[in-house]
Amino acid sequence: AKTSSRIADTQKCLRVSGKHNDLEEVGQDSYHHTMFEMLGNWSFGDYFKQEAIDYAYELLVDIYGIDKNKIYVTVFGGDKIDGTEPDEEAADLWARFIPRERILYFGKKDNFWEMGDTGPCGPCSEIHVDLRSAGQRAEIPGKELVNKDHPMVIEIWNLVFIQYNRKKDGSLEELPEKHVDTGMGLERLVMILQDKTSNYDSDLFSPLIRFVEEQTGVEYTSDYSGEVKSDIAMRVIADHIRAVAFTIADGEMPNNTGGGYVIRRILRRAVRYYYSFLGVKEPFIYKMVPLLAEQFAAVFPELKAQETFVGKVMAEEERSFLRTLDDGLKRLNALKVDDGTLSGEDAFELYDTYGFPFDLTRLVAKEKGWRVDEKAFIVALEEQKSRSRADAAKTMGDWQVVHENGDSEFVGYDQLEMQDIRVLKYRDIEEKGKTFHQLVLDKTPFYPEGGGQVGDTGLLTFGQERISVQDTVKENNLIVHYVDRIPENISALALGFVDKKRRKLIENNHTATDLMHSALRTVLGEHVQQKGSLVRDDYLRFDFSHYQKMTDEEISRVELIVNEKIRENIKRREDRAIPLEAAKSAGAMMLFGEKYGDEVRMITFDPGYSVELCGGCHVQSTGQLGYFKITSETGIAAGIRRIVAITSEASESYINDQLTRLNEVSTRFKNPDVVAAIDEMLEENAALKKKLQKLEGAKAGAVLETLRQKVITVNGRNVLAERVDIEDAKAVKTLLFNLEKEISNGVFLLGFVSSGKPQLMLMISGDLTRDGNLHAGKIIKEIAREIKGGGGGQPFFASAGGSDPSGLDRAIDGLKNHI
Ligand code: ATP
Ligand code: MG
Repeated sequence: AKTSSRIADTQKCLRVSGKHNDLEEVGQDSYHHTMFEMLGNWSFGDYFKQEAIDYAYELLVDIYGIDKNKIYVTVFGGDKIDGTEPDEEAADLWARFIPRERILYFGKKDNFWEMGDTGPCGPCSEIHVDLRSAGQRAEIPGKELVNKDHPMVIEIWNLVFIQYNRKKDGSLEELPEKHVDTGMGLERLVMILQDKTSNYDSDLFSPLIRFVEEQTGVEYTSDYSGEVKSDIAMRVIADHIRAVAFTIADGEMPNNTGGGYVIRRILRRAVRYYYSFLGVKEPFIYKMVPLLAEQFAAVFPELKAQETFVGKVMAEEERSFLRTLDDGLKRLNALKVDDGTLSGEDAFELYDTYGFPFDLTRLVAKEKGWRVDEKAFIVALEEQKSRSRADAAKTMGDWQVVHENGDSEFVGYDQLEMQDIRVLKYRDIEEKGKTFHQLVLDKTPFYPEGGGQVGDTGLLTFGQERISVQDTVKENNLIVHYVDRIPENISALALGFVDKKRRKLIENNHTATDLMHSALRTVLGEHVQQKGSLVRDDYLRFDFSHYQKMTDEEISRVELIVNEKIRENIKRREDRAIPLEAAKSAGAMMLFGEKYGDEVRMITFDPGYSVELCGGCHVQSTGQLGYFKITSETGIAAGIRRIVAITSEASESYINDQLTRLNEVSTRFKNPDVVAAIDEMLEENAALKKKLQKLEGAKAGAVLETLRQKVITVNGRNVLAERVDIEDAKAVKTLLFNLEKEISNGVFLLGFVSSGKPQLMLMISGDLTRDGNLHAGKIIKEIAREIKGGGGGQPFFASAGGSDPSGLDRAIDGLKNHI
């Protein structure tokens, strides 16, 4: 692939979890967002501090015309523990443009960049702009407000000088090559260039705020004191719509884990704000998608292209969270509160099981005149957090270098066996109390997990030593092999053997995925977009956008097309490195959210039918797939369907299993025409049922006659306690109602067994329930103990079911104790 040592770009950036988390600020202040565009220039071993500083100054002052007297810069002040000196080099470079008194030194927290505990890092130099009025600037010098969270003295650009590598023991080593990574927030820049004092007043956000105003009829007043909640809500909405819509357009779906949970949380935060402070109780922000898509049509066209889809996903998420909010409110309303204080446990339960945000709990509690035990809530929250942190803890050892540190080459498209392999480096990783071993090789036939395709497994031999490869993954440019142990003979040349059989099955499923993707677009339409894919040896899974359940007929048509392509035994055409533009004009399917290089690998099975850009492994010709079968089609989220399918051996045995079952059925029926046999049986069954009901009815009539005779008088009450030989509960109930109509002052108890389970029904005349203080529900509860059962009901009618039929007579007998 072609590489560049200098790059300039814009990245969509989310700062809502982990190390950088601005979520709680967003909406409160004027310059932090959940999603912002970070403009950057990069040097990979090319220019360093001087050029980075020159470029930054030139762009801001000479080109954009920002007043240089309002600019402050910070440089790294050194760190005792790390043994690093102040970055005088950067300070001197700045001093060529900016007076020394506006060059400020800050410590590690502000001016040393590192992403993890280990890895590349280095000092940074930030550019701040003082946007206050001349009067204010004369009163308090700007340098006292830098890095003090002042909304008018803000950082806009950070220049990071990557010059060290942090090792596992915490020490720093100089990197052989130095790099530059800068980041400038577009939204802050636009605010400054448009002469505004808040990002939200720039034209990036104001159309969105106007929209909310129009839809809700609430006026936006640009208040930042925190008093005007509707202002905060409007900023939250104008901000969050961007994060949620773009993330979904980039292929992430709201759900309960990882990235999906992040957008779910952002979207819920928006819902909570409009629900609480703008009086909106219905899905709302999805309505802004078209406006946003239009705004960004020329920059990020992926949103416009998926506008309907993104809107549907958001509306569905909003709807379901609004339901949760309602449930949570009901739960809150039902809570018992001692001393006017809602306990921390209750607040945590609301938060944890109902997704009910704490400040909403507090708000509702306040309306009810309750306090909330916030301390106890935080304790419960912290406990949960440390539980999940412990689960995720992962420690990585340093790489131990065996041979020179280079890239690893993948040769597994053509070769499944390989000799003369060298280990470049290895390390141990500890995760959830388990140790894993990783090897990086100079060249490897093992495919690293990617593009939905699982990683290869197999064997490495170092002389006599056999090491099993359990998985293969990609980390940046490295292909990392998970092995059962680190070989003793680590510097020996190794042989590698991919598990061939497994790889073949994986290839079958990968090719099937591509063939099916095209078939889905043929059968369902061009709106079908891949939303996720898993290619394993035993099955494939494919998620795609489509609005309703596929019909059986559509599924059959897709299967038919794919199987036709299999039978045509089409040879694979592989273009390993063709220019992206050429691939586009060949009609290759492009996925949104996927990054493609200038040169791509294009896999073609029939140029008019399936042309995909794909780094995965495919069969030589489609006949190898044998037979393709879809085993399930389900919905997994609003507008997203999931297909699971199988090929070759798996589909063969699937079909055989089905046939075996069918054969068994027809053997039982002694009739090869199973369908006719089943129809016949169903008919017979229905006729028998009818007959039975009739008989039961007739029997009940006869039984009614017998029962009438058995009514005895006790204390002036007409009492009946009998067992009847009827299975149908409805018939027994009818019997009781008929008795009650005929005989006044009655207490009638009937016991019977239905499908092996003892049942009781008790009916008491209205007068007796009022004057005689009898309660059928209470009585039946008592006597049902004999049948090991429970029940209840109203004063005049109750029923009970149990599990012990042997106690039925005793239960019936028990009635006399109650009258
Ligand atoms: P701040 O202290 O203002 O939060 P930061 O130190 O977190 O900024 P960097 O990590 O240096 O910022 O990011 C580089 C640039 O990205 C910043 O100078 C700023 O312009 C922009 N930026 C950072 N965080 C946000 C955010 N949450 N919203 C908008 N822009 C941001
Ligand atoms: Mg920050």
